Amino acid sequence: MFDIGVNLTSTQFSKDRKHVVKRAKEAGLTGFLITGTSALESQQAQSLAQEQRGFCWSTAGVHPHYASEWSAETESTLRRLMDRPEVVAIGECGLDFNRNISAPEQQEYAFNAQLALAAEINAPVFLHCREAHARFMAILQPWLNVLPGAVVHCFTGTRDELEECLAAGLSIGITGWVCDERRGTALRDMLPLIPVDQLLLETDAPYLLPRDMRPRPTTRRNEPCFLSHIVQQVAHWRGEDPHTLAQKTDENARRLFRLSASGVENSDLA
Ligand SMILES: [Zn+2]
Repeated sequence: MFDIGVNLTSTQFSKDRKHVVKRAKEAGLTGFLITGTSALESQQAQSLAQEQRGFCWSTAGVHPHYASEWSAETESTLRRLMDRPEVVAIGECGLDFNRNISAPEQQEYAFNAQLALAAEINAPVFLHCREAHARFMAILQPWLNVLPGAVVHCFTGTRDELEECLAAGLSIGITGWVCDERRGTALRDMLPLIPVDQLLLETDAPYLLPRDMRPRPTTRRNEPCFLSHIVQQVAHWRGEDPHTLAQKTDENARRLFRLSASGVENSDLA
């Protein structure tokens, strides 16, 4: 059971980060990926992953919200981070036209630059797309045959958009969004359309606490230890066995991000 999206650098975790990792292990997670969202947070993510070697890995990238910060220096920071063995993907990167915190032109520029970098260094990409599907696919498409892999994390799009992503060979990251009875039901109905080989699971912690957990957690903060709830619910809605789904999505994450097999320790002495 592998969580591909944990924002462990968030200040919401600053007081008890080590306990969050410990609870994740106790909950049966086999590992998780720490999301990098800016040059600074990508560096923080790398050092957190390094502290949890063999259990945590990280991404290096600039989220569309921070696209206006993109510079040659950002690119060299990401390039340097990607030399580290625990940094396994470029991202999160993409487009978010929901809030346009960075201007759309800046978002497109930073997205394209990160795809070019990933292609050059042969790294998989961790993608974010919100209310920008057409431009997102137009920019991504030319890179697909030179990228080793790509996941659209926290997919919340329409059925047509899902089908287009799947046809393009993209993996789909599903979060606890799907557990939301107000806005997740359409996505819930689409879950069986995703071939199991293209499915990945994530909490996107500390965001998106699943709304249907009983008893309800005492805080609104999501944690990687709640991934088991998402596994249970997604398996139920797909008509699958949760253990098989946990195993399969773990294998998918390890294949996409080229991680060592579960339970096998990386060691310099080996
Ligand atoms: Zn995102």
